[in-house]
Amino acid sequence: MQIDIIAGTRPNFIKIAAIIYAIESSKTGIKYRLIHTGQHYDEKLSLGIFRDLNLPAPDRNLNIGSGSQAEQTGGIMLGYEEILKEKKPNICLVVGDVTTSMACAITAKKMGIKVVHVEAGLRSKDWSMPEEINRIIIDSIADYFFTTTIEASQELYRNGKSKDQVFFVGNTMIDTLLRFKPKFQAPEIWNKLDLQKKNYLLLTLHRPSNVDKIQNLKRILSSIMENSGEVPVIFPVHPRTASILEKISLPSKNLFFIKPLSYLEFNFLLQNSMAVLTDSGGVTEEATVLQIPCMTLRENTERPETVQIGTNEIIGTNKENIEKALFKLFANKWKKGAIPELWDGKTGKRIIEVLIEEKAFHTGQIID
Ligand code: UDP
Repeated sequence: MQIDIIAGTRPNFIKIAAIIYAIESSKTGIKYRLIHTGQHYDEKLSLGIFRDLNLPAPDRNLNIGSGSQAEQTGGIMLGYEEILKEKKPNICLVVGDVTTSMACAITAKKMGIKVVHVEAGLRSKDWSMPEEINRIIIDSIADYFFTTTIEASQELYRNGKSKDQVFFVGNTMIDTLLRFKPKFQAPEIWNKLDLQKKNYLLLTLHRPSNVDKIQNLKRILSSIMENSGEVPVIFPVHPRTASILEKISLPSKNLFFIKPLSYLEFNFLLQNSMAVLTDSGGVTEEATVLQIPCMTLRENTERPETVQIGTNEIIGTNKENIEKALFKLFANKWKKGAIPELWDGKTGKRIIEVLIEEKAFHTGQIID
């Protein structure tokens, strides 16, 4: 069986890592090509993560770089089509909800290749998010679906998918987190600021709705700073956010902007933090498993289990809500969470077992 494993962004690399380890340790002779689209190309978001996670070098890199949604989609489709013309695999496996995953899923499907979607069935119901559009497109055309929760499977059934297409297997991002937990390492800022366990907050922001408009970003940052007292706030700045931050002057002696951290350093800081404030989906899952209080700076989430079961709360981005949430945290009243079903580090293995059993994946698609 030959699989194309598609990845182009930081969260993609973290998710596919679990699948690659599972293939490597299954000894079943599954062959794969790792296709990097180059959607993320910043050292810290791409090569650095490959190094941290001991990922093999990509077999192909489309080097798509930055651009509008349409430019990236078109560029990735053209690039991947060329690769497929050379050789068609049995399966094109995409993870998550980024442009890379959507563009490759469409290209493969139109060339008659079975598409497998890992992390299928998530919905924020927020059509202003490019990711929501990507999720819905991928889930409309994919052939097989691997889900992180029963709720996500149910969403797919409501959309007409059948039981033999949908597999509830757990969360690949958590496989990677648990595998690398013993290797988390303190970043430079830990010693530089003499940070201590539970005496600082961690912040990440990169969703267009939060960072593309200066006023929004400014309001969020000043609300956090006005309500966090002397507590240091460590903010590893995503490249998307960095260009906007340059235009804001925000004097605060407790807010520390740093470059994006390596995966091992970021999760070290997360594990030891008092809480994380974030608009990242992946971080809400990691905070849930590490049992760190998590405030989602968005109005919705496609990962409701992190709220219903985990440590996450949807705070939104208005000043009053941020104030209330931080007050609750400092008063030691944040809820304790539990860990969602099957987020146990064995998801990659379950996915590979299903792929091996599915006869449809072994039938003659490979064209050399
Ligand atoms: N992450 C990282 N370094 C950082 C910030 C985040 O390695 O400085 C990791 C984090 O542990 C998580 C992933 O990046 O696994 C989340 O990626 P991102 O927030 O870009 O994507 P999203 O989850 O929002 O799709």
